[in-house]
Amino acid sequence: MNNFGDRKIFWEEILEILSIPVIIINRDGEIVFFNKGAREFLGYNEKDIIFRKIYTIISASAKPLLESLIKKAEEKSEPSIVENILPFVKKDGEVVSIHTSFACASSNDEFYGIFVLKLKNRKDFDLTWLKALVEQANVAIEVTDAEGNIIYVNPEFERSSGYTREELLGKNSRILKSEKRDKAFYEELWSTISSGKVWKGIFINKRKDGTFYYADAVIFPIKDDNEEIIGYGSMGVDVTEKVKMEEEIKERTKKLEELQAFLVKMASKSLSEEYTFIDFVKEILEKAAELIDADKVLMLMFNESHDQLKPIDVYFKREKVHKKGFITTKEELPLYFEKAKREMEEFLIINKTHNPALMEELARFAQRCGVKDVGSSIIDVPLRSNKEVIGTLSFAKFDPDKEWSLDEQIFAKYIADIVTLKLEQYNKIKMEKALIEAREEAESANRAKTTFLSQMSHELRTPLNAILGFSQLLYEEMLGPLNESQKDALKDVLKSGHHLLELINEILDLSKIESGRITLSIEDIHISDLITEVIDLSRPLAVNRGIRIINEVPKGVYVKGDYTRLKQVFINLLSNAIKYNKDEGYVEIGIEESDKIIKVMVEDSGIGIPKDKLDRLFNPFDRLGREATSLEGTGIGLAITKKLVELMGGSIEVKSKAGQGSTFTVSLIRAEGIFKKMERDMKDIRSSEHVDKRKKYKILYIEDNLSNLKLVTKIFLKRPEVKLITSGQGRVGIDLALTHKPDLILVDINLPDISGHEVLERLREIEELKDTRIIAISADVLGMNKEKAKKKGFDDFIPKPIDVKQFLSIIDNYLSRA
Ligand code: ADP
Repeated sequence: MNNFGDRKIFWEEILEILSIPVIIINRDGEIVFFNKGAREFLGYNEKDIIFRKIYTIISASAKPLLESLIKKAEEKSEPSIVENILPFVKKDGEVVSIHTSFACASSNDEFYGIFVLKLKNRKDFDLTWLKALVEQANVAIEVTDAEGNIIYVNPEFERSSGYTREELLGKNSRILKSEKRDKAFYEELWSTISSGKVWKGIFINKRKDGTFYYADAVIFPIKDDNEEIIGYGSMGVDVTEKVKMEEEIKERTKKLEELQAFLVKMASKSLSEEYTFIDFVKEILEKAAELIDADKVLMLMFNESHDQLKPIDVYFKREKVHKKGFITTKEELPLYFEKAKREMEEFLIINKTHNPALMEELARFAQRCGVKDVGSSIIDVPLRSNKEVIGTLSFAKFDPDKEWSLDEQIFAKYIADIVTLKLEQYNKIKMEKALIEAREEAESANRAKTTFLSQMSHELRTPLNAILGFSQLLYEEMLGPLNESQKDALKDVLKSGHHLLELINEILDLSKIESGRITLSIEDIHISDLITEVIDLSRPLAVNRGIRIINEVPKGVYVKGDYTRLKQVFINLLSNAIKYNKDEGYVEIGIEESDKIIKVMVEDSGIGIPKDKLDRLFNPFDRLGREATSLEGTGIGLAITKKLVELMGGSIEVKSKAGQGSTFTVSLIRAEGIFKKMERDMKDIRSSEHVDKRKKYKILYIEDNLSNLKLVTKIFLKRPEVKLITSGQGRVGIDLALTHKPDLILVDINLPDISGHEVLERLREIEELKDTRIIAISADVLGMNKEKAKKKGFDDFIPKPIDVKQFLSIIDNYLSRA
C-alpha cells in the first residue's frame, strides 16, 4: 500500500462516494476517473467521458495553461498541489470557471493527475446568484489567473471590448492593451496588484476593431485561504462617452474663453485716425474665421432703401486675403433680400437642408460672378441698429453639407453684436464731428451777426433820430402849415420811424445781453410792488380793448433780481398777453410759492400759440407767422425776456392752447425780503444830535425799486426834520432837483431810463446844484464801492440792501454839514 497504484481501487471507491467533483487523468491527458460529483456537476455520464482527452472538457483557451501545469508537475518528483481557476465545459456547452486543486503523482512510469473541483469554496464563480449578478451587470468584469490569463469575462466585457468570450478565455489580458498608456502606467498597475492591493484608474483599451475605449476600472487580487494570490478580478465601466464629452467641454470652454477675451479686447478698442473702422472690421473677420469653421467671412451693409447690399470687407481664410466683394441688389437676389431684412430671426442658415432654394439662388449668382464657392453652407447673422437690420455678417463654408453647430451660431451672434457696437460708436463719432463743426460754424456766424448788429444799430440810430426829430417838427407845423394828406403821410413816417427805433433799441439790447455786456444789480425785490407797477404801465393798452387785468400777487413775497430788468421782463409778458388777447378778454397774474422758488404766472385768454410753433417761441425775430397780421412787433421781446430771466438765475416756461390762451411762468429765486431784517433796526431810529432839528432838510431819492423807496420813506417818517422827495426815473429826478434844490441827493445807479452815472453828470452841469452832495446807491457791490464811486464823482456810496444804521449815520453826517 506504499504507492498510489496499489491502492487505486480503494481510492476510487472512496472518491466515488464524495460529492466533490474529482477527475483523474493519465499521462496522455485521458480521463481515467470521473466521480459521481463530477458527473452530476458537469452533466457527463461515465461511458461518454472515460478516455476522452481532458482538453475536451476544459476550454481550449486554457490548453496552454493546462499543459504548463502538467509540465511543471511532472518535473517535480514530489507530489505537489497547484491551485487554479479553470474553465470547464459542461455537457450542455456552458463554460464555468472553477477553482480547482490540481495534484499529480507519477509511479511506475504512470502519471496520474487529479483535479479536485472546489465547488464549496467562496471564491468559486459558479455560485448561481453571484454568477447571475455578474452576467447581468453593465460593468465589464474580467477574472484572470495569477499570470493575467483570462479565465472569465462577462457579457458587458464582451460588448465593450468587441471580442467574444471564446476569443478571450485563456488569452492574456494584455491583448486589450493600447499604446496610449506608457510602460510606467502598467508597471505601476502590476506592482500594486501583485503586492495584494487594489488598483484604480482609467485604461485606454484597444477594441477588436482597433478603436479605443476608456474604462474606469478597479483591479483587485483574488486570494486563497492562505492569502496567496491565485488570480485577479477587474471591473470596468466604459467611460468613453464621458471622457470624450469632458474633452469636448474642455475644448469648448477654452474656445469660449478665447472668444470672450477677444470680444472684450475688440469692444474696448477705440477708433481713431490710425485704427479706423475698416481696420477693426478686418481684424474681427480674420479672428471670426478662425473661431468659426468658415472659409469666407463677409460684412455687408444695406443702403437706405434696403435694395442693395454693399460689402464692407470679404475675408478668405485659406488664402488669408481681404477682398472688396460685389455689390448685390434685390433684383439679382430676390429671395436672399427678402430673408436678409428679417424682423425677428437671429440666424439665417443656408445649406442643403436649410433653405435649399436660397442656396441655389446664391450659387447661381456666384457662378455668374465667376466665384468658386458655388453651393456653400452659409450662416448669416443680422447687424442691427435701433432694432432695424442694417447689414449682415455672413460666414461661408465651401461645403453645402456643412451643418453649423450651436457654438458656431452663438459665436457668430457675439461677433455680430461687437461689430454692431463698433458701428454705432463709429456713427456717433462721425455725427459728433459733424455736430461740432456745425456748432462752431453757427457760433462764429452768431458772433459775427451780434457784432454786426450792434455796430449797425448804433450807426442807424443817429440818422434815425434826425429823421424823427425833423418829422416831428414838420408834423407840429413848426416849419409851416401842412395840408391833410401831407399830415397823414408824415404820421405814417413817424409811426414807422418809431417802430424802427424800437426795433433798433431791442436789437441793441439783445446783442448787449448776448455778448454779455450788461451787468445786473441783483437785490431783493418785493414782487407785488413790481407787478403793480408793471400793471399800471400796461393798463392803457388793456383799457382800449376792454381787457381786464387781475392781480392775484400777494404782498410780502420777495425774489432775487435786477429791478429794472425784471420790470422789463414782466412788461414784455404783460404787453404780449394784452396784444395777443381777444377784446373783452382777461389777463391774470398770480404766483406759486415754494421754499426756494417763486413762480410768477401771466395767464391770458388770448389767441394762444399752436403746439408745433411753441419751440420757436423764444427765437429772436421769429414772430410765428404774426408778421402777416396787424399786430405790431419785432419778435425780439421774448428772446430778451428769456435771456434776462436766465441771467437772474431763473427760467421761463410756457403752456398754451391755440384759441384758448397762454400761460407764461417765470421761476425766480426766492429772497428773504429787506423789511424783515430791518424792522428791528427801525425801532432804534432817533434824531441825530448833530442835526439841527429846527431846520428843514430836503433829500431827493432817485430810485426805481419800490421796496427800497418804501423803506427809505419809512425811515424818514421817523425823522420829521427831513422832507423826502422821490423819483422812479433819472430824467424826472433831475427836473425835481432843479425845482426843489435838495440838501442831499441819493441816486440809484440802475435806473430804467438813464443810468445813475448820467444823472450825476447832468446834475454836476447845473450851476445851482454844484455844491449839493450826491450819494450813489447800488446793489452791484462788485461793480461799485466807495472808491469807485468817488472816482466817478459821487460824494459817497451806500450799498444795497440798505443797512438802516449805516444808512442813517452817512446821511446824518452830510446833513450836519449842510
Ligand atoms: P413780438 O411780440 O414783438 O412779435 P415776442 O418775442 O414778444 O415778439 O413774441 C414772439 C411771438 O410769440 C409773437 O410774435 C407771437 O406770435 C407769440 N406770442 C408771444 N406772446 C404770446 C401770447 N401771450 N399769446 C399768443 N402768442 C404770443
